[in-house]
Amino acid sequence: MNDTTMKGRKFTGATRAPKTYETNRTCAAKDCDTRLSRYNRREWCYTHAPTKYPRLRGRIVKADA
Ligand SMILES: [Zn+2]
Repeated sequence: MNDTTMKGRKFTGATRAPKTYETNRTCAAKDCDTRLSRYNRREWCYTHAPTKYPRLRGRIVKADA
């Protein structure tokens, strides 16, 4: 076996265009008109983004505070 080359894994989630996004997007949450940065690749503002919470030992984190 001589296969020691590190191969980059292709990102296959071909969902959205790369780099910048539309300029006038607003949060995808209902009743929220927070403008999204065009560098923000999410569909929600920081308040509504379905954040990946770090593991909090058995604690349940409410999604919408
Ligand atoms: Zn929002």
